[in-house]
Amino acid sequence: MPWCDSCDVYLAPNTVATDGCCPTCHAEVDTADDKNLQTAKVPWHFWVVVVALVAYLGWRLIEGIVWLVGQV
Ligand SMILES: [Zn+2]
Repeated sequence: MPWCDSCDVYLAPNTVATDGCCPTCHAEVDTADDKNLQTAKVPWHFWVVVVALVAYLGWRLIEGIVWLVGQV
């Protein structure tokens, strides 16, 4: 969440000026929190879910192809 030190307020990301300054006082906005969020490492269990999803969808794709071949 962008934070303006001068105004002591949190700003909605879409209200921050395109140059990264506060729309009210035009001071530079602290977006360190945002950067931390963006660079935060993805938790390992996320990849477990991704691998499981890919494996499941891959299996369903194979099943679908086998079904299609069976129809011919
Ligand atoms: Zn401000």
